[in-house]
Amino acid sequence: MATIFSRIIAGEIPCYKVAENDHYFAFLDINPLAKGHTLVVPKCETDYIFDLDDQTLAGMTIFAKQIAEKLQKMTGCKKVAMVVLGLEVPHAHIHLIPMNTESDVDFRKEKLKLTPEEFSEIAQALRG
Ligand code: AMP
Repeated sequence: MATIFSRIIAGEIPCYKVAENDHYFAFLDINPLAKGHTLVVPKCETDYIFDLDDQTLAGMTIFAKQIAEKLQKMTGCKKVAMVVLGLEVPHAHIHLIPMNTESDVDFRKEKLKLTPEEFSEIAQALRG
């Protein structure tokens, strides 16, 4: 069965899309730790990020970097954290999280509750 992220990429499940090219897809995390918290995924369905071939992994990092630059510009954050963790979705993904302190990247923290309008606005700003 396709992973939830493959179904998002295929357009079967809605998302707040941030960027896409032939090999990668980025969308807002629905349970964000910070405004702009984005997930970057490869279109090929691989569970463990270090099972990706070298070229795909390198390309994914470069794709993530382009989004991180936009995130930093949009939020004015000190840095954008790039985090790979979690066992919830068996489809490799990078979390990009705007941060000003290390506690901004604490996954035990309560997540932000954003309205659909706020999610749309953020995604649109990042696409621009
Ligand atoms: P983890 O495997 O622990 O990195 O968790 C997967 C991440 O995907 C979590 O941060 C979820 O909030 C996020 N997530 C799961 N389903 C969706 C979805 N349909 N749209 C956006 N983000 C999602």
